[in-house]
Amino acid sequence: MSRRKARPARTARPAGSARTAPPAVTADSPCPCGLPATYGACCGRFHSGPATAPTAELLMRSRYSAFVVRDEPYLLRTWAPETRPAEVDFDPELRWAGLEIEETSDGTAFHQRGTVTFRARFTHEGAPGELHERSRFTRHEGAWVYADGDFLD
Ligand SMILES: [Zn+2]
Repeated sequence: MSRRKARPARTARPAGSARTAPPAVTADSPCPCGLPATYGACCGRFHSGPATAPTAELLMRSRYSAFVVRDEPYLLRTWAPETRPAEVDFDPELRWAGLEIEETSDGTAFHQRGTVTFRARFTHEGAPGELHERSRFTRHEGAWVYADGDFLD
C-alpha cells in the first residue's frame, strides 16, 4: 500500500487547517487495523518498536494503521530500500475507514516473501472510496518490509 498510484487529486489547503490533523488514536483505542485489540497491544507495539511484525499480514495491518496515525518513520522503515520513497505524502483530505484482509500467501515466519490482498476503505473529501490491492512483502535485515503492490479492480 503506497498510495502513490491511486492518489486523488489534491486541492489547495490553508496552512494550519484543523482538517490536516490525523485522527486521535491512543494506546487504548480500538486498533485501526480491525483486529479485536487495542492499538497499544496491536499495531502500536510495532510502531513504537523494537518489536517487529512476525508475518506479512501483521506488517500489512501495521502499515495500514501507520497510514491512519500518519507514522511516517514507521512506514519508511518498513518499506523495502529498493522501492522506498524519500517521504510519505499524506493526503490531509483522506480518512482511512477500515481494512479487510482478503487473502494471504506465504509471509509467515518460515518464508522470505509473501503477498497480502486487501481492501482498505477511505473517504476523500467526504466521498467514500476503496483501495483494492495485492501487496508484495519481502525481508530486509530479517524483518518484513513492503516491496510493491498491484491495484485490483
Ligand atoms: Zn492492529
